[in-house]
Order: sequence, then structure tokens, then C-alpha cells
Amino acid sequence: MSEQRDNSNGSGAYSTPESPQQEQRGFETLAIHAGQAADKSTGAVVPPIHQVSTYKQDGVGGLRGGYEYSRSANPTRTALEENLAALEGGRRGLAFASGLAAEDCLLRTLLTPGDHVVIPDDAYGGTFRLFARVAERWGVQWSVADSSDPAAVRAKLRERTKAVWVETPSNPLLGVTDIAAVAEVAHGAGARLVVDNTFASPYLQQPLALGADVVVHSTTKYMGGHSDVVGGALVVTDPALGDELAFHQNAMGGIAGPFDSWLVMRGIKTLGVRMDRHGENAARVVQLLTAHPKVTEVFYPGLPTHPGHEIAAKQMRGFGGMVSFRVEGGEEAAVRVCDRARLFTLGESLGGVESLIEHPGRMTHASAAGSALEVPADLVRLSVGIESADDLLADLTQALD
Ligand SMILES: *Cc1c(COP(=O)(O)O)cnc(C)c1O
Repeated sequence: MSEQRDNSNGSGAYSTPESPQQEQRGFETLAIHAGQAADKSTGAVVPPIHQVSTYKQDGVGGLRGGYEYSRSANPTRTALEENLAALEGGRRGLAFASGLAAEDCLLRTLLTPGDHVVIPDDAYGGTFRLFARVAERWGVQWSVADSSDPAAVRAKLRERTKAVWVETPSNPLLGVTDIAAVAEVAHGAGARLVVDNTFASPYLQQPLALGADVVVHSTTKYMGGHSDVVGGALVVTDPALGDELAFHQNAMGGIAGPFDSWLVMRGIKTLGVRMDRHGENAARVVQLLTAHPKVTEVFYPGLPTHPGHEIAAKQMRGFGGMVSFRVEGGEEAAVRVCDRARLFTLGESLGGVESLIEHPGRMTHASAAGSALEVPADLVRLSVGIESADDLLADLTQALD
């Protein structure tokens, strides 16, 4: 479990989509350079924040570099979108105002009334709410399956199933789905496989290479990495689907603004080193929790006892920074641990440099109460940050004792 860099899928070989013949670059190089050419007019090594809505045309229809209006395209957003495509090994990246704006654009592009989607039984609460409370009103059908079991997903497929949606590792129970196996199941029925890669980030896991058709991100989390921006992204390999998504992105308007795009790009440059440290610190936290008498169960894909451990070890290059656990004494005890933590800040969200603690049942997953996605009441979720590990362990020890 301390072996965070078991690099079974991470060959480190990628190329930027706009120049596939270019020498293959490693992930960290792409994170810093893909889509980030020095500014043509000044040589600035960081793409400027083009805080602008419209562009001067050289005669009617005479666009300079293809930009006419910033909902359709903006150079700062383009730089981020090219970077995202390169990091996921896709052909097209699209940046949105939030993860949910990206999800909404995707489902309105893939589905029409009467179509059906299979969604996982463990997922971000807002994703579930989008299907159950919004898409359903527009005639979209959905079924819930345990996506860690490809046969369970197959059993839910219907004639009009257009997409299978998975989150791996999942939120908040850290369930693991075999992406390649579920891709085969989805494709066998003519459906597309969508993978929410927010928890892993492209540094740890690359769903497109494993057969997924669409990668979804809340860039608010590890990609941005500093709890200072809300954003979302889609990355695809099929250029025709990329064009359809870009049409809907422009037609519906949920774009990432220039400053937000810039913040996400700035975060991405250090994604690799941050994810390594998140993983190392999480491994220490898991060690403490598994030995603690008040902790009844620990959820972390790096644990050899985790049911998805082997698949995670195969399809990820590390196990990430998210850890959940159950405590003795039920809901009240779990809430007390959250209240007592000091260095772990009590708050929603995840993936930032600072450690966070929360009670999913009352916070992030309150909207899933009473559904198949309801989470245990005695569950606590940690987003393990990159502070000194000893300080994090001391804080958890005092919160549990
Ligand atoms: C946060 C989150 C989302 C939603 O993203 P927002 O940026 O908050 O809209 C989707 N999926 C997962 C796994 C998340 O953690």
C-alpha cells in the first residue's frame, strides 16, 4: 500500500492532440506545456487571462485566429481545453463553469426524451440529483447498478440505453469499477461509457485508454487543487462527439470564464507532485485508521482487503488522497469526529492542498437520502491534503479519542 507509484498503466507516454506526430512527452511535461505555448505578441510564458467578450474583426467575417465571441471560444479557455485533452489522452477537451455544467451539457448532448442511462449506486450526490430531479423531468430514464459488478450493469441495459455512467474511485465509498470490463458491456449494447475521473485525476488514471468514451471532471477538485475555483471538464476521443459537445457548450452557455480557466491551468501544472503527496499522506492516514479501536471500517482502494484493490492496482498508478471510514457509536459519533477535528477543516469539496473532513450523510450526500445511493450514517469522509503527515495523524488521533 505504501507502493504509491506501482506504475502498471503509467507508461508516461502521451502526445498533444493537435500535433500527434510530435515527440511523445511525459505526463508532467504535458501538464506544464500542452496548449501553453508562449504568448505570440509578448513572449509571456504563461497564457494571459484574456478577460474579454468580443474580438475586433478585420472586415466582416475576418477573424484573427478564429475568435469572435467568448461564449463560443476564448484563448485562455482554449489553452486549458488543449491541455485537458492532452492529459487525458483525448482529442477534444471542453471546459465548463462547474462539474455539473459539464455533466448537464453531456447528458443533453447524448440523450433525448425516452432514452435511458445506467448510473452507479455510489456517486457524487449532485450527479444523482441531476438525473433524479432534473433529467427525469425531461423524459430521461435511469436505473441504478452496482458498477463494480459488470454483470449487474449488463442486467440494467435496455434497448434505449445510450450511456453507462461510472465514477471510479467513487464518492464517498471509494468503490472501484473495472473500466475496461464495463466499457465492453456498454459497447456491446451500443451505449457510451462515461467515467467521472474526478477522484483519480488523469495523473492516476486514464479512462479513455481503457475504453471509455467520455471523461468527466469537476476541475474544482484535484485539477484546480487549491480550493479557489469551481470548474468542470469533458474530454472525448471521437471528434464528431467533440463537435456535438462544442455545439451544445456554445448553445447552452455553461462555459468556464477566462480567470477560472487560468486558475485551473495553474493548478494542473503541479498535479503530478500534488497527487504523489496526497497518496503518501493518505497511506499514512489509512495505517492509523485501520489500527484505531474506534474505527470499524476503512474504505481505501490501496488496502489489500478492499474488494476493488486488484483492479485499482491495475488501472491506476496510485490510490489517491480520498479516504472514508465508519466509526463506532453511529451517526452522533461520526458527527462528533468531524466537529472535533482542527487541522482537518470541516467542509464540503475535496482535492485541495488543505485537508478536509465531512459527514457525507448530512453534507455532500444529503440529496441521496432515501435512495439507492444513501450512504451509511456513521461514515466520515476525508480529503487528505499535503500538509505534514505527522500533524494530520495527530489531529485525527485527538478527534477520535
Ligand atoms: C464535485 C464533484 C462533481 C460536481 O462538480 P462541481 O464542480 O461541484 O459542479 C462531480 N463529480 C464528482 C466526483 C465530484 O466530486
